[in-house]
Amino acid sequence: MPEHPPGLIDTHCHLEMIRLDQDRNEVIARAFDSGLEAMITVASDPASNRMAIAIAEANENIYCSVGVHPHEAKLLTDTLKSEITLMARHPKVVAIGETGLDYHYDHSPRDTQRDVFRWHLKLAAETGLPVIIHSREADEDTISILRDSPPRRAVLHCFSGSVQLLDLAREMGIYVSVAGPVTFSKSHGLREAVRHIPDELLLVETDSPYLAPVPMRGKRNEPSFVAHTAREVAELRGVTFDDIVRITTVNSRKLFGIGDIPGGGSIAYRIRNSLYLNITNRCSNRCSFCVRYRSDFVKGHNLSLSREPATADIKAAIGDPADYDEVVFCGYGEPTMRLDIVKEVAAWVREKGGRVRLNTNGHGSLINGRNIVPELSGLLDEVSVSLDAQDAETYERLCSPELPGSFDAVLDFIRASAAALPTVKATVVDMEGVDIEACRRLAESLGAELRIRDYDVVG
Ligand code: SF4
Repeated sequence: MPEHPPGLIDTHCHLEMIRLDQDRNEVIARAFDSGLEAMITVASDPASNRMAIAIAEANENIYCSVGVHPHEAKLLTDTLKSEITLMARHPKVVAIGETGLDYHYDHSPRDTQRDVFRWHLKLAAETGLPVIIHSREADEDTISILRDSPPRRAVLHCFSGSVQLLDLAREMGIYVSVAGPVTFSKSHGLREAVRHIPDELLLVETDSPYLAPVPMRGKRNEPSFVAHTAREVAELRGVTFDDIVRITTVNSRKLFGIGDIPGGGSIAYRIRNSLYLNITNRCSNRCSFCVRYRSDFVKGHNLSLSREPATADIKAAIGDPADYDEVVFCGYGEPTMRLDIVKEVAAWVREKGGRVRLNTNGHGSLINGRNIVPELSGLLDEVSVSLDAQDAETYERLCSPELPGSFDAVLDFIRASAAALPTVKATVVDMEGVDIEACRRLAESLGAELRIRDYDVVG
């Protein structure tokens, strides 16, 4: 079955708030015309539960949730609980919520909100559905309740930029959904926090009809506007709009169980206008921060190989190297584990007018039992080496290398590369225990510039 091409998914809108005798059908048509793949219309009270299901029944690519918003928590009677429990079995219901805590308006008593939030979490556990969480000025209690009753799958909707919630999301694997306020120039904290949401947890939404993004700010929001939010998120994270569409669509499909998930085995995968190569899943490190221990996906590409590709497979996957800014050996493993393939493919890419970069953990000479840098000279335009620590002790703790002497081998590799190759960068992840300034001094003493990379980047 061919993979469904990705289109954006608005993971949180309230279509039931737009009356049918107004222009709901036009709003839906505009959303699909703009390229949206699907929408999740999110219920908030007894009437909207029923209406959300009716809207989802009438539209193949609209799904819905059932639940009671914290504002309406006081309405949750036993009868309503039974009704929601029954509705949760409907095939178009893909989530429970929105639920959570709202201490800004306090439309329902806080203890009632907490009880009702716990009830939704229990229902999500019983049904196996993800839970959609709203938290406004209530992060401490939200975190405490989620720690007591950890959801299997969940999303923090309309993410506020709270560092505490983002830390919790990382720790518990909770998705984080970004809405229109990220486009507001004064949302400094949110705009900064959005750069640090792990790729595999990122979603986008409109929360329409509220919070229209710039340049639609002040108008009634609608799902087609989610593209403006996605473009801003792309800009803030230094990737393209297409990258954000791919990442968030795969994440949405996974979270809500809708659409096809790309199968494994991407040999070549595009990020911005670079083409990355995934030639092995083997690595001589086991870094605590490596994304491959949390997900098979990098920027929406599934990198789990069922077999290591041959040279011909790799060349076929590349196509014309001159179509890209660069071709990068990277992927879910250490490329120099397959040094002969790296050399052969790199020579071919350069022959075809392409630029070549190698992302490596710097163990190549140790793995291959000889100094490999002279063999790479003339084949690479750039090498990026994971330095990862300021000393051997920290390196051992963070990277758990298989081979003794790995940290010294990394230093030797950087030094030799700096003397023989055009551009050499050493990289570190900014995380606890890493002394960035000491790493910078060390890299410079070896002849390389230091680059700080996101915690979830492989290579
Ligand atoms: S981050 Fe790189 S070096 Fe570390 S385990 Fe992952 S692939 Fe290997």
